[in-house]
Amino acid sequence: MADAVPVLRVTDLEKHFPVKGGMFGGRGGAVHAVDGVSFSIDPGETLGLVGESGCGKSTVGRTILRLLDPTAGTVEVGGTDITNLRTRELKPFRRRMQIIFQDPFSSLDPRMKAGAIVGELLTVHESLSREERNARVAELFARVGLRDAQMDNYPHEFSGGQRQRLGIARALSLNPELIICDEPVSALDVSIQAQVINLLKDLQAELGLAYLFIAHDLAVVEHLADRVAVMYLGRIVEIADKTSLFGNPQHPYTESLLAAVPIPDPAVTRDKRILEGDVPSPIDRPSGCHFHTRCPYATDRCREEDPALHEVGNGHFTACHLR
Ligand code: SF4
Repeated sequence: MADAVPVLRVTDLEKHFPVKGGMFGGRGGAVHAVDGVSFSIDPGETLGLVGESGCGKSTVGRTILRLLDPTAGTVEVGGTDITNLRTRELKPFRRRMQIIFQDPFSSLDPRMKAGAIVGELLTVHESLSREERNARVAELFARVGLRDAQMDNYPHEFSGGQRQRLGIARALSLNPELIICDEPVSALDVSIQAQVINLLKDLQAELGLAYLFIAHDLAVVEHLADRVAVMYLGRIVEIADKTSLFGNPQHPYTESLLAAVPIPDPAVTRDKRILEGDVPSPIDRPSGCHFHTRCPYATDRCREEDPALHEVGNGHFTACHLR
């Protein structure tokens, strides 16, 4: 059987932001927020995209959705290159990809009733009568565990977890194939996080959704992802299926991120390689391997030569000279 066409394929994606410099505001270099990122996501698959704050993972999500225009590289949706499509040509592809934001409160218009928020995309993209739209919105409310009666409430009348359910209902409204989940649970209490993650899992099983799940917390990603990509300073430094990445990390940065994940069993200790120092500036990145300023194994070669992402076995890729 031929391989399924990926829902999403990103190839050598770059997003640079020019920086003004000097007294007279001339050009002063660029922030390399995303610097040559490639991956694909199959139908019904979850790819976790993790890394510290500022590593470029949210910019990847926004560039895929064309909320930001890429500097270079391509984005294909279901086999069609959408990188250079104009707004009108993009419309059918925008239906197929939706986003859930980190902060449900700021992403929901406080002046709109919850039913209108969830039905907003239906109003723009579909010609439905008021009754048809209301019926569809009620169905979406039920699907994410909210009551019909709550359609008339305003966002401030919902709890944090319920507001994220509203964001999920809105993202589902056009029956997308892919949802970009941008840190969707990081603003929520731990107990609520589990409920939202379970809801996302159930919806995936029911609807065959694919997710790009962006998070800084590897523990969250472990519950949901099939594969995981680790980003550092705008690049993917390791990508593998979840079991391989968590069980046998190959990049020292991934090792450090895993070492920071708490283990619930006090009898079990983890080999601690806690990360020291801050992420270097994406305007003035270190030479060679960008991680060498924080890596406990760095050698002279690491300071001079940039390691390429290469396969170390069975779909497990890493960018480190030692592996
Ligand atoms: Fe560390 Fe060198 Fe590997 Fe970079 S290439 S992660 S500095 S050992």
